[in-house]
Amino acid sequence: MPHDTDQAMPADLLAHARAAKGFMPEEEGLLLHRLARARLPYGPVLEVGTYCGKSAIYLGAAAREVGGTVVTVDHHRGSEENQAGWEHHDPSLVDAELGLMDTLPVFRATLARAGLEEQVVAVVGASTRVSALWRTPLAMLFIDGGHAEVHATHDYLGWSPWLMTEGLLVIHDVFPDPADGGRPPYLIYLRALASGDFTEVEALGSVRVLRRVRGDAGDPVR
Ligand code: SAH
Ligand code: MG
Repeated sequence: MPHDTDQAMPADLLAHARAAKGFMPEEEGLLLHRLARARLPYGPVLEVGTYCGKSAIYLGAAAREVGGTVVTVDHHRGSEENQAGWEHHDPSLVDAELGLMDTLPVFRATLARAGLEEQVVAVVGASTRVSALWRTPLAMLFIDGGHAEVHATHDYLGWSPWLMTEGLLVIHDVFPDPADGGRPPYLIYLRALASGDFTEVEALGSVRVLRRVRGDAGDPVR
């Protein structure tokens, strides 16, 4: 694809994304930014799995450029692998009084520093509780939440019906080879393809991009 400087991430926001704590490689973050730019004119972009806001900056940058809103959902208590004793634990993110993970304060500071508080709306709660209340068609859904099978499956089943036709389902941490990482994100990716409602349009690193071709919440045949 030819390099189009109009599509490049604004330099100030790229610096904020680079500085943010989190699990989003730059190349994949730039892909999120490009996809969100293309989709935000059609409706909101929703992210499951905020953590400290690294990916939210790539998405929010797109909203600053083209307008629209990014919603990011997280209970901010961390996934299994973020808990004490696990591989991705960061002791600086533990609330001393409660002895629980709390990424919300770091997220808020990160987002404020980036100047994206208007564009990015944080919803604090368990993904399934929030999706059960959701009624708004989404232009893009980015699933990057809990990696346990129950969470990944519920994220897919709870949120993907709200993705409009032509909308993009973007899944992170998809590892076809089990030696590279856990299965559940890969399993929901396979499930989406097997449904016949989605077709794969792009892949980069562990990101898979699927487009809904039929079967959104307003579709009478669903
Ligand atoms: N997108 C982030 C990384 C997300 S890590 C980045 O760019 O760095 C996964 C996040 O999902 C964690 O913050 C964890 O708290 C959250 N999470 C896990 N299970 C969840 C659930 N069931 N409901 C809401 N959030 C959940
Ligand atoms: Mg991830």
